[in-house]
Amino acid sequence: MLTISALIWLSRQEGLKDFATRFRTFKKLTTRFVAGETIDEVIPFIREINAEGSGASFDHLNESVASAVEAEGEVLEYLHILDRIVDTGIESNVSIKLTQFGLGLDPDLAYQNARRVVVEAQKREIFVRIDMEDSSVTQITLDIFKRLRSEFGLNDVGIVLQSYLRRTYADAEELLQIPARIRICKGAYNEPEEVAFPDKQDVDANYVKVMQLLLTSGVYHGIATHDPKMIAATIDFVRREGIGKDQFEFQMLYGIRRDLQRQLAHDGYNVRIYVPYGKHWYPYFMRRLAERPANIWFVMKNLFKG
Ligand SMILES: Cc1cc2nc3c(=O)[nH]c(=O)nc-3n(C[C@H](O)[C@H](O)[C@H](O)COP(=O)(O)OP(=O)(O)OC[C@H]3O[C@@H](n4cnc5c(N)ncnc54)[C@H](O)[C@@H]3O)c2cc1C
Repeated sequence: MLTISALIWLSRQEGLKDFATRFRTFKKLTTRFVAGETIDEVIPFIREINAEGSGASFDHLNESVASAVEAEGEVLEYLHILDRIVDTGIESNVSIKLTQFGLGLDPDLAYQNARRVVVEAQKREIFVRIDMEDSSVTQITLDIFKRLRSEFGLNDVGIVLQSYLRRTYADAEELLQIPARIRICKGAYNEPEEVAFPDKQDVDANYVKVMQLLLTSGVYHGIATHDPKMIAATIDFVRREGIGKDQFEFQMLYGIRRDLQRQLAHDGYNVRIYVPYGKHWYPYFMRRLAERPANIWFVMKNLFKG
């Protein structure tokens, strides 16, 4: 049986990435978690969720790019997304990764590239969320975010924190001083015990603590989870504290718990679905497999079906 760390390790193997992305059967399976290959392929889905009252966040899949040219391609893709959001009138913002904009090559390049996207997004009143990647880049991601936040408004650029990291509560307190719009999620990477809680119950307890801190800050945050316990804890807390349903949003990933996404929207909560698309799906797809053992059986069954 493949372990979670083995899957996360596999998600970083370049050779396998090339093999899997060329393997047609494998590619077909990705539709479970990846909305399409191009911007226009995912727009019908965004229209569908908009009609249900939910918003979207575009994510062009690519991370840890190998060259400044590749990073430039990512900037251009995001500028194109911004235009398509305006042209089509869909309700969507964008999520970016700094390693996609060249963080691994040169932090200043990543900052400049992210800035170019935020400048254009601001003109169109579209919010840009900076995803959080593994712990080797947590500090530099926060530093670049703070630099951008000092130049742009609260509703122009936001950040993500992960409840599995021991440092997160302190980071949330510091970011709220600015203030900043934060997405809290549990965290999707394989982290050492020195930096992250190894036990799920500690990750969950920290999630609830950070969620409560965020929701009492008066800033509009994203509560990103599919975990019914985290969702129930959030709903209980906002009811108890008299926090309005319009003061925050639940966020979920494309392809996961569609039933819950619809239910929350139906119950009058703000819901935003993170919609990944593109050809570089391999690391994202492998992280989704690692989150739930049943997903591995789903893949195996379908691969051997031919
Ligand atoms: C909108 C959004 C943005 C995110 N952005 C980031 C980010 O920037 N950085 C980062 O590190 N992580 C990010 N994540 C991923 C997150 O950290 C978790 O890895 C992921 O959400 C699973 O955690 P959970 O809260 O759903 O709880 P879990 O306890 O993992 O799952 C709860 C339940 O949700 C369902 N579920 C969860 N994952 C899956 C899956 N892959 N397949 C099928 N069912 C599943 C299952 O029913 C499971 O029992 C994001 C998640 C969301 C929803």
